[in-house]
Amino acid sequence: MAEETIFSKIIRREIPADIVWQDDLVTAFRDISPQAPTHILIVPNILIPTVNDTLPEHEQALGHLITVAAKIAEQEGIAGDGFRLVINCNRHGGQEVYHLHMHLLGGRPLGPLLS
Ligand code: C5P
Repeated sequence: MAEETIFSKIIRREIPADIVWQDDLVTAFRDISPQAPTHILIVPNILIPTVNDTLPEHEQALGHLITVAAKIAEQEGIAGDGFRLVINCNRHGGQEVYHLHMHLLGGRPLGPLLS
């Protein structure tokens, strides 16, 4: 059984966060340390620690991350100019919180992907 992170508490609304979307499958909230004018994390409600832990039964929630990202981008007014979706995995991917999440970044030109 994977260990819960702070994201489970945010999903259950046990600690405050600026939640912009929540449904049965995913929760989205503003990153506490934004790297762009719009920086939102979209998180499956069930705890999947990393991309390496994904299973076929997670596909509905994982696919939903993208369709919800598109809706939030529209809501934020950044759909037309564009945005970036990022999922980090493990140490080399730069993952800090071991509850799989997708970053939605936009509101400025983001430059080259790799650093
Ligand atoms: O992909 P990675 O695991 O590195 O991203 C974790 C993200 O979670 C960071 O951008 C960090 O700012 C954010 N975070 C947050 N609220 C917390 C803890 C971390 O928005 N309470």
